[in-house]
Amino acid sequence: MISPFAKLVFWAGARLRNPSLKSIYRELKQQESFTRAELEALQLEKLQKLLNLAYEHSAYYRQVFDDLNLHPDDIQSIADLQQLPTMSKQTLIAENSRIHTSFPFAKRMLAETSGTSGEALEFYRNEEWDSQNRANVMRNYDWYGVNVWDKNGYFWGYNLDQKRSWKIRLLDWLQNRSRIFRYDDASIANFAKNLSGAKYLSGYSSMIYQIAKKVNQLGIKLDDIKMVKGTSEMILDAYQPEVKQAFGRKMISEYGAAESGLIAFECPQGNMHINMESVIVETDENNEVIITNLASLSFPIIRYRLGDCVTLSEQQCACGRAHPIIADIMGRKGASIKGNEQQYPALTFYYVFKNIAMEHGVLINYKARQETLGHVDITLEGKPNEQWQTLIAAEMDKYFGQDLAYKLTYTERFEEQVKKQQYFESTLGD
Ligand SMILES: [Zn+2]
Repeated sequence: MISPFAKLVFWAGARLRNPSLKSIYRELKQQESFTRAELEALQLEKLQKLLNLAYEHSAYYRQVFDDLNLHPDDIQSIADLQQLPTMSKQTLIAENSRIHTSFPFAKRMLAETSGTSGEALEFYRNEEWDSQNRANVMRNYDWYGVNVWDKNGYFWGYNLDQKRSWKIRLLDWLQNRSRIFRYDDASIANFAKNLSGAKYLSGYSSMIYQIAKKVNQLGIKLDDIKMVKGTSEMILDAYQPEVKQAFGRKMISEYGAAESGLIAFECPQGNMHINMESVIVETDENNEVIITNLASLSFPIIRYRLGDCVTLSEQQCACGRAHPIIADIMGRKGASIKGNEQQYPALTFYYVFKNIAMEHGVLINYKARQETLGHVDITLEGKPNEQWQTLIAAEMDKYFGQDLAYKLTYTERFEEQVKKQQYFESTLGD
């Protein structure tokens, strides 16, 4: 799709789905040049609105405040927020309906996530929250001279299910993107050809790396790429030389999750700036990150432990933005799954369980662990279940065929400690 047309398609879709997107985007563009003090004042204003709404309309938060003998009016600074307890994903799942606010939003959208720890969570986002997410992305892309509607390549849809492919194709067309489905040489060469004129690439970092290696082996040249964005997995330094050679750019990172929203985005100077207009980021004494999502009015996320450890920095960035920097994110590493014949991206398990959730409405909490070549151990939370076993067998066969054996075991409940670990772990190394 040529860019002016793609832009029209984008805004036509946005008017239907996200009527507040344009105004929120404009606000974010203005706030980008705010001083730190102005940003903090904005945060406090948004925080008080969120806390009041949570108190009035969420049974869960009403009780949290009442149990502490607190009222939202008692929170007069960002530091006062620490009077409230932190919460985990376990709370978001167990208290799901009581956390949702009863406020009558004009429009709400269902979000589903199995997340990095493999636990399934569903919640509703009000339209303005969804638009805030999208506007954040647009503003961040601006830093690279990229529009979301520009032609782009998507390294994400690792799904071999042909049933949904017309839907995926339509969505891809609407978003002006090419997506890769298979990872053999011919498919990669063909994909690279389709990417001629593309402005940006995005997807899971381990996949971008795998493709970059293939692109280099095949001697394909891709010019004109302004941004290569890795998501959801840690970007290993070892990825960068291949990625630079293949696409002419280093891979940049973003940091966020469905429930937290976009927390930080890497600027062209290489620093991850916190989206202060949308989130409050705290860390505890163990460097564990605690997020308050300022846009989460329909399902308030207040002092939420995302499960990662991060280091914050007060270093002033050369780009001039006053937004503080996340210096380091520990956790979420994407090791490869090793079959007898082939290697697979770590996120393959994510797709196995996501497909089961999307197509059969069956949410399964899982952990996968590999200690020997060609074999994985998968632990499921719950009692032994034949339906699960059948569904998992079908999905595993789709992705791995005979290349990877697996063994299922059940545990009544994952320990809190286990929950913080990866959905896939390997002792075999990269
Ligand atoms: Zn910067």
